[in-house]
Amino acid sequence: MKGKTAKTEGVIGSKAGLARILSGLKGFDEAKVRLEQYITDGETAADILWNMYILGDIDGKVIVDLGAGTGILGVGAGLLGAKKVILVEIDKTALDIAKENISKVKSEGYSSVCDMEVIGKDIEEIRNKERCEGTKGLKGDVVVENPPFGTKVRHADIRFLEKALEIANVVYSLHKSESKGFLERFAAGKKAKITHIWRYDLPLKAAFAFHTRRIRRISVSCFRFSTTN
Ligand code: SAH
Repeated sequence: MKGKTAKTEGVIGSKAGLARILSGLKGFDEAKVRLEQYITDGETAADILWNMYILGDIDGKVIVDLGAGTGILGVGAGLLGAKKVILVEIDKTALDIAKENISKVKSEGYSSVCDMEVIGKDIEEIRNKERCEGTKGLKGDVVVENPPFGTKVRHADIRFLEKALEIANVVYSLHKSESKGFLERFAAGKKAKITHIWRYDLPLKAAFAFHTRRIRRISVSCFRFSTTN
């Protein structure tokens, strides 16, 4: 599939181009430890989104970005031709930055970036009747998420995954690579399959005082879950 380009008018034609735009977006002003606010860097986000695109999981789809933070994954999905992107984020400050980022790409001429909706809520508050695509509540074709890994709020990652699988049949979710065995058992319990795994070394910037070195990296993997294939 090398060389495949985004065909939707006005959007990005290469992974490198996408990475450049995403790297220029604004990040967290002051990351909140309790909420595990770790941004996905532009290169990693572009790679995840490009894989999604190649597998047919973006073009023309309704994408839900759970725990959207400053919006890098959702904005990128919009740039690659999603039909609609819905960003859900509990932290209003982060969501304001996400809105700025959406305006920025639109003002830079990517005017065909799709309809982007932001919802300032805890993912737990998203009920079926809350929002609609039809009458069934918050539903999408695909969820993309870089959730809290559960180091501050126990099982936060699992709550994100459960919510994601309620929303869509296909879920791209970032987790520590070491969680693979656990996630395989979790998926089996949900009658879902892990169809693909991509591994990354995610830079954790020294946004938090307890980080001693300026940048350290952790091994994370993006897992694609599917309940249909
Ligand atoms: N998706 C972004 C941010 C990842 S950090 C990126 O890839 O860069 C995880 C995000 O989840 C943070 O912005 C945090 O505020 C948000 N979050 C944590 N708990 C949440 C909850 N219960 N409901 C909604 N968002 C939550």
